[in-house]
Amino acid sequence: KASPLGSSVIPIVNKLQDIFAQLGTHSSIELPQVAVVGSQSSGKSSVLESLVGRDFLPRGNDICTRRPLVLQLVQTKSKSSGGSDDEWGEFLHLPSNHRIYDFSEIRREIEAETNRLAGGNKGVKDKQIRLKIFSPNVLDITLVDLPGITKVPVGDQPTDIEARIRTMILSYIKQPSCLILAVTPANSDLANSDALQIAGNADPDGHRTIGVITKLDIMDKGTDARNLLLGKVVPLRLGYVGVVNRCQEDILLNRSVKDALSAEEKFFQSRPAYHGLADRLGIPQLAKKLNQILVQHIKALLPDLKSRISNALVATAKEHQSYGEITESRAGQGALLLNFLSKYCEVNLMVNFLKQHTLHCW
Ligand code: GDP
Ligand code: MG
Repeated sequence: KASPLGSSVIPIVNKLQDIFAQLGTHSSIELPQVAVVGSQSSGKSSVLESLVGRDFLPRGNDICTRRPLVLQLVQTKSKSSGGSDDEWGEFLHLPSNHRIYDFSEIRREIEAETNRLAGGNKGVKDKQIRLKIFSPNVLDITLVDLPGITKVPVGDQPTDIEARIRTMILSYIKQPSCLILAVTPANSDLANSDALQIAGNADPDGHRTIGVITKLDIMDKGTDARNLLLGKVVPLRLGYVGVVNRCQEDILLNRSVKDALSAEEKFFQSRPAYHGLADRLGIPQLAKKLNQILVQHIKALLPDLKSRISNALVATAKEHQSYGEITESRAGQGALLLNFLSKYCEVNLMVNFLKQHTLHCW
């Protein structure tokens, strides 16, 4: 039941968090943020929602995302490990401990809070909305839903709306730790993609940009996205994933994320143009790609963790010696020593485990 994003990383992250807790350090695993960029209505909010596996973001054929939404996923203990399977949201702008269990109410609150600051007439504001989603089925990661790039001011938007939105987007994606999902609809020209253009500004080497092609289902008859997905049109270091999200009608009919995922799979199976491209098709594949990047990231943190544990080991051993005859403390120190030793072995096991996972996938 885990959300597509994180299903393979959750056990590793949990294990490491456990080790950190026992080491008594307050540091934990900082996973990179993931932000979506692209032009308005390209499907950014839809992609994020499918990755989380729940319905709660305002989506539509108009400007819906008008303030940055910083979405912090927080993993809770599941029922099977002594917690509960409840999932809920909490907003920073509401009293703490105001838990919202109904995800459509979360969406209404995002809309209401957008209107409070950005007005009801299409205005866009820099000020974030911060939402935490608590669930046993997610991993601790932050996703950022950003307003799309628009060119022509509408409603209450100022004349320099395009420049303002670009500056806002860049302030998030220029951070070297931010992973960028550059979203372009398949029914527009990839060479003119706002998403690839702005991602290229922030990440010129393409080390942290994944191309996402949406709306494969509504391409012009007789065309397909095969060459786009193969990187033959605009090459991208980490490559592309093509997806089919819910259309506006699905949203109005309340079609579930789960149904949408199986419809997506059927779509790809029924189109010969996409045969042989399974590794770059579908939301689960996008989640897998992100998971692989997260595992790489975790791998990079391990040597440091290892040396911290071995330092603690040495320090405890020294202290142990200096105690001499005071047997009670010695027993305590001995137990600590053993504990560190076992943690050290655990990290070694994990390093080997991650080594065995061949990650040179793209
Ligand atoms: P955003 O402005 O980039 O966040 O785009 P949204 O996620 O709000 O989507 C804009 C509109 O496009 C909504 O009506 C979605 O239902 C629709 N949409 C998004 N992705 C797809 C897709 O893959 N196929 C189809 N048919 N419609 C999509
Ligand atoms: Mg949006």
